[in-house]
Amino acid sequence: MDHPVGNDMVFRDLWALRKWTRLLNLEEGFVEHWHHDRIVLVGDAVHKMTPNAGLGVNQGWQGVVALTNSLRALLSSADANFGTDALTRVFEAYQKRSEKMAKDSVFLSKLYIRITAWHNVAYKIVDHVGPYLGGDPVTFKLLASPIVRRGIVLDGVPEPGHKVGHIPWDNKPYKEEDE
Ligand SMILES: Cc1cc2nc3c(=O)[nH]c(=O)nc-3n(C[C@H](O)[C@H](O)[C@H](O)COP(=O)(O)OP(=O)(O)OC[C@H]3O[C@@H](n4cnc5c(N)ncnc54)[C@H](O)[C@@H]3O)c2cc1C
Repeated sequence: MDHPVGNDMVFRDLWALRKWTRLLNLEEGFVEHWHHDRIVLVGDAVHKMTPNAGLGVNQGWQGVVALTNSLRALLSSADANFGTDALTRVFEAYQKRSEKMAKDSVFLSKLYIRITAWHNVAYKIVDHVGPYLGGDPVTFKLLASPIVRRGIVLDGVPEPGHKVGHIPWDNKPYKEEDE
């Protein structure tokens, strides 16, 4: 309640201004089978994580990119009359490409929510000690950046204005001369 949330304002002031509150159920889970026959799942349908690490939709987009790349390769292949077997291979490639990153994101989100929610005494201690060791910036640099930097890129779409920060991306954006 005493935590500063802006100029001359603590959380207590913000809380007093609330119009309504609601307790939400935040689910988490990881599905082993991402596709069947001609059906494929993407996003929260396969990897649902708690939101406070901010990785959920990012990971969903990574899946979309992996799936798009695999579908594009199939569509530009010589045999355009593909059947379910070819689609299954596309779906397998999509899962293989994004599954590890999704698992890592789910793991980090799981850990982070348990620390901030004081799920047990050990997590509570970590939450109290954390700020003395650099807090969220250090946590994210050590634990989230190694996941995010592995971001998959669309392999047929150029990225004008691509930016690189002090932690470089593992994958370079596509350039038309790559074709
Ligand atoms: C409070 C909060 C904060 C978040 N903050 C972040 C963040 O900062 N960064 C981040 O990366 N992620 C964040 N997320 C996670 C992100 O919102 C989700 O990962 C993302 O919305 C999932 O997208 P999705 O399309 O996979 O699923 P959804 O957004 O859940 O979309 C599924 C859609 O399907 C519809 N649907 C369900 N059943 C049926 C049916 N039978 N027929 C037809 N339609 C159906 C639903 O109504 C819904 O519109 C946050 C989540 C929450 C709850």
